[in-house]
Amino acid sequence: MPEIYFDNAATTRTRKEVLDTFVKVSEEDFANPASNHALGSKVLHLLDRARAQIASYFHLLPEECLFTSGATEGNNLAIKGVSDHAKSWGKRLITTKAEHPSVLEVFRKREKEGFEVVYLDFDKEGRLDYEGLETALNDKTSLVSVMAVNNELGTIFDLKRVFEIVHKSKAKLHVDATQAIGKEELSSLFFDLLTFSGHKIGGIKGTGILLKRKDVQLDSQILGGGQENGYRSGTSPVPLDCSLATALRLSLKTLEERRHKAKKLNLFLREGLSKIPEVLILSPVDATPFILSFALMEHKGSIVSEALSERGIYVSTKSACSSREEGYSYVVRNAGYDLRTARNAIRLSFSGEEDLSQGEIFLEQLEDILRTTDKEN
Ligand code: PMP
Repeated sequence: MPEIYFDNAATTRTRKEVLDTFVKVSEEDFANPASNHALGSKVLHLLDRARAQIASYFHLLPEECLFTSGATEGNNLAIKGVSDHAKSWGKRLITTKAEHPSVLEVFRKREKEGFEVVYLDFDKEGRLDYEGLETALNDKTSLVSVMAVNNELGTIFDLKRVFEIVHKSKAKLHVDATQAIGKEELSSLFFDLLTFSGHKIGGIKGTGILLKRKDVQLDSQILGGGQENGYRSGTSPVPLDCSLATALRLSLKTLEERRHKAKKLNLFLREGLSKIPEVLILSPVDATPFILSFALMEHKGSIVSEALSERGIYVSTKSACSSREEGYSYVVRNAGYDLRTARNAIRLSFSGEEDLSQGEIFLEQLEDILRTTDKEN
């Protein structure tokens, strides 16, 4: 039986063209872009071109686009950088209970350091507490951080609404768009700062972007030679940075077609899963089509995912990068489900390159496992 990989929200297969870019630049343009000679200048030109290309997709200036090692670094830099810079007046910060640990852990640390942090609720239907955001904002709020698409449920927050509320104050809006880039239209993103990782869009692990509009002020967290406009020192990994420009270009070029396929597969699986009595679908109906989460009422999620894995079908039982609150999904719990549901949640996530026959095999195998595996008591 061919392998079925339904874990693209954890990471995607690296595209061949992306690897080709990495190898070509590594081999042919290995010089340091900061070097003051012709080889260095040629590499600097490649770096500038990759940066300008990425910035242009977001209608930004090249200097508003910073290369990072991924969303974790980008989220840390955005949140620490803005709150450090504003600490004399802006010690109130706002985020949501749906965020990834690379956001939540930074806010928890800030709290210990004397900042006041508000964690907004969200619900099963995927609505954020927009009224709560409005009341939480005051003239001491320097930063609001809200994700675009949730990595576990696929929930989409209304960033336009969030942006309009936030901009009634002095605060800036940071958006963790790690699960939105390559899945949703860029026009749905409203932000002052935005982060994402390359490896979720067919890129190489260890690549990422922080977009920072030029009126946003932040303190650098990595000091040294002043690369990335002084915001991230260290010799620029130009082959990686160029490979990310290729990954983003291809991901956006194929977006419409992949979304169409993901929608068809998602609907097919939703229909099939809803016929299994013990399945509760968790992803809201208007979630991104690339993520479909459900919970089992009678079986342990981890046992079923292990059994699927033995049959060559790869899914996720909770955020693959979550290390806190082991054993259950805090996102599912915070959406208002009970502990048992949060423990038995399974996430399917697609690249948009799958076909329906993979969905058929998945449903057949899942039903067989549920029939033949001991129930949780
Ligand atoms: N934010 C979200 C929403 C994510 O899904 C992830 C990865 N699971 C991250 C941030 C962190 O990305 P990385 O591990 O690539 O730094």
